[in-house]
Amino acid sequence: MAQLSDDCFAFGGQLLSVEAAAAMIAERIPPIEGTETLPLMAALGRVLAGGLVARSPLPPFFNSAVDGYAFAHANLGEGSTRLPLAGRLAAGDAAQPLPPGTAMRVLTGAPMPEGADTVMMQEDAVLEGDALLLPPGLKRGANCRPAGEDVPLGAEALPPGTLLTAPEIGLAAALGFATLECRRPVRVGVFSTGNELASPGLPLGPAQTYDSNRFTLMAMLARLPVAVSDLGILPDRAEATRAALDRASREHDVLITSGGVSAGEEDHVRAAIESFGSLVFWRLAVKPGRPAALGVVNGTPVLGLPGNPVAAVVCFLHLARPLVLRLAGALDRPLPRFLVPAGFTHKKKQGRREYLRVRLGADAQRFEREGAGLLTSLTRSDAFCELPEEMTRLEPGTLVQVLPFAAIF
Ligand code: AMP
Ligand code: MG
Repeated sequence: MAQLSDDCFAFGGQLLSVEAAAAMIAERIPPIEGTETLPLMAALGRVLAGGLVARSPLPPFFNSAVDGYAFAHANLGEGSTRLPLAGRLAAGDAAQPLPPGTAMRVLTGAPMPEGADTVMMQEDAVLEGDALLLPPGLKRGANCRPAGEDVPLGAEALPPGTLLTAPEIGLAAALGFATLECRRPVRVGVFSTGNELASPGLPLGPAQTYDSNRFTLMAMLARLPVAVSDLGILPDRAEATRAALDRASREHDVLITSGGVSAGEEDHVRAAIESFGSLVFWRLAVKPGRPAALGVVNGTPVLGLPGNPVAAVVCFLHLARPLVLRLAGALDRPLPRFLVPAGFTHKKKQGRREYLRVRLGADAQRFEREGAGLLTSLTRSDAFCELPEEMTRLEPGTLVQVLPFAAIF
């Protein structure tokens, strides 16, 4: 990756809007370099390097979309039309010419007989001996699929930067590609920080709590085009934090930490980044979401997320996700949002965006408790309800934006 300059995130203000943070990331983060050719299934979840250009049209030939009868539309009369049946074509058969003034039996996927341009579904046709009675009113070209109607020959089927999910893998296969040129995965290192943290599986000492953020964040990263290194827990010690960030920054494209980014004397991530170069101390205008830090260490971006588990998730969505997608060379993928009527009343501070946890039914019902540390507010809800900066009061029935967890986690 092109090394970032220390001051590339320089920002004057104290309170940064979610939009300004996203714009800063989009403008200042160059994609990593390096591509590899992968078999289709290995390309799943990766980013397409170049545009995928159709070497053949899709569908490759003019074919019937239904089981029915192919004929020339010009033969259809005002009333019912009687055409003798001539021949039969199934999927995989070679096309044949249609004798003028006849109809041909065709099955779904069969090539259209030469001279035919329309298909009558078998349910709509009446067979009379070896002839067919066709009702009037069918449009020319009905029930058949022209060559290239999905993707014409030479068209760009997928643009560069496409994140390859099931439909894109299917489209590439339909166009005959067995391999795809993909960008290499973004190498992401994930740390937790805090003397109070213990790894799951180990006994819990006094005043200790299990580290959950590292696993939540790695699980969220699993949906992105990354190779994740689990870098464990950093103690709240200046020198250890500094040494770990120094080493890890040389082996990764981005580092993500949680905790230790506030202004307390045990918040060493912030101080460590500062000691290397520059740090932007972002007070992101979201709730939940305490200050987050973004800095550059040895040319590698380091993102310090808040320690509180729900705040870490919200800041991951607004900072880590766009940062990783940008490094990956992926096209912008805004989080899906839907409008749903609120089923509750809520008061809120102006000037920051708020994320409530809600259950979705006929309306959005608020999860009873809202603490930034409550992981069950995520496991027992269906979506974030996003309340915009300018809102101060929410009444039942007001349409609100929701971000379904199914699209996030
Ligand atoms: P900090 O930002 O380091 O002051 O952390 C804020 C709160 O989040 C504290 O209660 C921490 O114990 C908690 N916390 C920090 N990191 C984690 C983590 N990895 N897993 C669970 N809780 C955490
Ligand atoms: Mg801490």
